Amino acid sequence: MRIVLLGAPGAGKGTVAKLLSEFDGSVQISTGDILRAAVKDGTDLGREAKDYMDRGDLVPDALIMKIMEERLQKPDCGKGFILDGFPRTILQAEALKTLLERLKIKLDFVVNLEVPKDVILDRLTTRRTCSNPECQEIYNIKSNPPTAAGTCKKCGSPVIQRDDETVAAINNRLETYNEKTAPLIGFYEREGLLKNFLSLQSKETVAEIEKSLKNK
Ligand code: ADP
Ligand code: ZN
Repeated sequence: MRIVLLGAPGAGKGTVAKLLSEFDGSVQISTGDILRAAVKDGTDLGREAKDYMDRGDLVPDALIMKIMEERLQKPDCGKGFILDGFPRTILQAEALKTLLERLKIKLDFVVNLEVPKDVILDRLTTRRTCSNPECQEIYNIKSNPPTAAGTCKKCGSPVIQRDDETVAAINNRLETYNEKTAPLIGFYEREGLLKNFLSLQSKETVAEIEKSLKNK
């Protein structure tokens, strides 16, 4: 499959992307994961991106496009890809369109995950993430807690609250989403690529997306 996942922070893009990639081996490409790994490794990219990320601001478009141009040309993308957290601005969406035309790649469609605001807020404040950059398993202290010792069930590393998951940073991320990313819904509607999914349970949403792919 070749799809883009759109949705507010906390809409469940990461969880849905992971389940979809298990379905047919398409690779999940998360710009957030790539950036967090770069911060952790202390690369030039990571040093440039860290302050924007901690505030809940977007990393500059030019930096993101450089990452994604390289990433989309790696051989594993031949199996298909699920873009999770990219594009995030109209400029990125336009640049992605040009890039895909150049690479002769066609998207199946763009999935817009719709989740009510109160659900989003509850999810974001209760979310915890595995601190191991190779793992980054997502937990929820209410619905899917880590071990009693606060460690990851998959890899045993400490499970933490991300710097951008403080209340101030969360509010900023939601504002940034409304201002910069929500306009992509109209953009992809005009492109004839948009499909909306009300997303409360990730597993059900994934089944709906798989059905849409089959009926395409
Ligand atoms: P969430 O969707 O929960 O906000 P992500 O893991 O997708 O979190 O992204 C974390 C941070 O990484 C964002 O707040 C932003 O600073 C940066 N980031 C990720 N993807 C992009 C992108 N496509 N453009 C600009 N910044 C990005
Ligand atoms: Zn882990």
